[in-house]
Formats: sequence, C-alpha cells, structure tokens
Amino acid sequence: MLKGKNAVVTGSTSGIGLGVARALAARGVNVMLNGFGDPAEIKVLCARLAKEHGVRVEYHGADMSKPADIEAMMRQAESSFGAVDILVNNAGIQFVSPIEDFPPEKWDAIIAINLVALFHTIRHTVPGMKKRKWGRIINIASAHALVASPFKSAYVAAKHGVAGLTKTVALETATSGITCNAICPGYVLTPLVEKQIPDTAKARGITEAQVVSDVLLAAQPTKQFVTVEQVAALACFLAGDDAASITGTIQSIDGGWTAQ
Ligand code: NAD
Repeated sequence: MLKGKNAVVTGSTSGIGLGVARALAARGVNVMLNGFGDPAEIKVLCARLAKEHGVRVEYHGADMSKPADIEAMMRQAESSFGAVDILVNNAGIQFVSPIEDFPPEKWDAIIAINLVALFHTIRHTVPGMKKRKWGRIINIASAHALVASPFKSAYVAAKHGVAGLTKTVALETATSGITCNAICPGYVLTPLVEKQIPDTAKARGITEAQVVSDVLLAAQPTKQFVTVEQVAALACFLAGDDAASITGTIQSIDGGWTAQ
C-alpha cells in the first residue's frame, strides 16, 4: 500500500526516527534520512537500508534549527524523489532545569528544533502534497504534548505547540487528501534515554534498576517502556490508506501515562 511512496524522516540517524525510517523502508517507501552522526556510519546505514529493502535511501544533514538548511533538505527530497508523500517530523532534543536557571539559549534551541522546524518542513511540503492530492504528515510529539513534568518547560511548551500545529494543519488540509497527526509516546528506551540512566543513578544515589522503575517508569502504568517498533508501526498505520479519515488527532502511545 505504501510501496513507491517517498518519505522524509527528520532526526532519523538514531532512536525513534531511525525505527520509523526502517519500518517505512520495509514497506517499500523511499526514505530521506536526516540527523547528526558519523558520516561514514551514516553512509553505511543508507546503503544497508537500501539493500535490505530494495528502496532508495538518501541523507541530508540539515540542522533542524536552521530554516535555510530545512528548505535545502526539502527541495533536495522533492527533486531527488520527485515528491515528498510522507513527512515525519521527529528530530528533537531535551534539556532539564528549573525555569529560573533555564539557559535562554537552551530554550531557544528546543523551541527551534522541536517546534519551529515543523512549521518549516510542513510549509515546504504541503504545496506538493496538495498538488498530488495525497499526503501524510506525522509529528512525533510526546506525552508532554498533553501533560507537563517539572523542569522541562521548553520541551513541554514545544510539544504542546506541536499538538496545536498538528490540529491546525489538519483542518487546513482536510479536503486535499492530506492527513496530519501527532504521535505522543511515553518513555522509549532510545540511546538518549539509556545514556541518562547511569548518571541519574549516581545523582540520586540509587541503582540503575531503581532509576528505571522509580524515575522513568513511575508515570507509566504498564511499567514497560514503549518500544521504537511500536511507535514505528503506529506511524506506518497513519501513513497508510486505512488511516485516511484519521486527521488532527493526538495519538497517545504511553502505557497509560496520560489516562491518569
Ligand atoms: P534520539 O536522541 O535517539 O534521536 C534524536 C535524533 O534527532 C537524532 O537522529 C539526532 O541526530 C537528531 N537531531 C537532534 N538535533 C538535531 C538537529 N538540530 N538537526 C537535525 N537532527 C537533529 O532521540 P529519540 O528518543 O529517538 O527522540 C526522537 C523524538 O521522539 C524527539 O522528538 C523526542 O522528543 C520524541 N520522544 C522521545 C521519547 C523517548 O522517551 N525517547 C518520548 C517521547 C517523545
């Protein structure tokens, strides 16, 4: 059903973005990867994904905090694939601090990458989608698009903004064959989260197992991490024709976190 479509997945050299890119490629979608990392490793990754799934895999190193980079990436994807049918806005960063100590440059970076970048990718993509009367915009938000946690002011503000942007774009594109939805994961054990565990254990004087159960999964009733594969499967469903009537939604995949 998705075979032959073309996707851009931002922040797809690691974690959730890579999982989504892999799952799309496995369904026959040509994918443009984006994100930071070792150029040689990224080259190998592109070649491997392309060979395993028989699709085209390209890479653009756009820094999502830079509007000119974003425009260049979206133009390259259009010219190289001929179209961008599926846009997955995934790149994101985090910084944790009380508001009074929150460094303004960290606030600016989080708002730029986690929220403003989506405005740019979407505005460059929608005209082509409208012309072709088909498009899927999938924004990887967070449980923090729906609820807050202390010390994450910029992240929570950005992700709540993503929820509003998602609904607005959905309304504007509703009669054009385009859907726009947000996926809101709870904790996913990506390299980013994994790296925090030893430091948190040291800082709090508890074991790594206690960090997982008492800190990370305290908010998640299932007491299980959400997996990258589960998020990727939901993204693929939203990309498919069966999801044509699902638009403007905020899809929780958080082990019950926001049901409380
Ligand atoms: P990750 O750190 O594993 O991956 C982030 C990706 O974004 C990487 O490819 C990185 O290179 C890229 N990136 C970072 N800054 C960038 C920039 N300026 N320009 C281009 N690319 C950039 O993180 P992840 O956990 O996979 O998170 C992916 C998304 O999922 C983020 O939007 C995050 O907020 C969201 N999310 C994650 C979790 C979780 O628990 N891991 C939960 C909810 C939502």
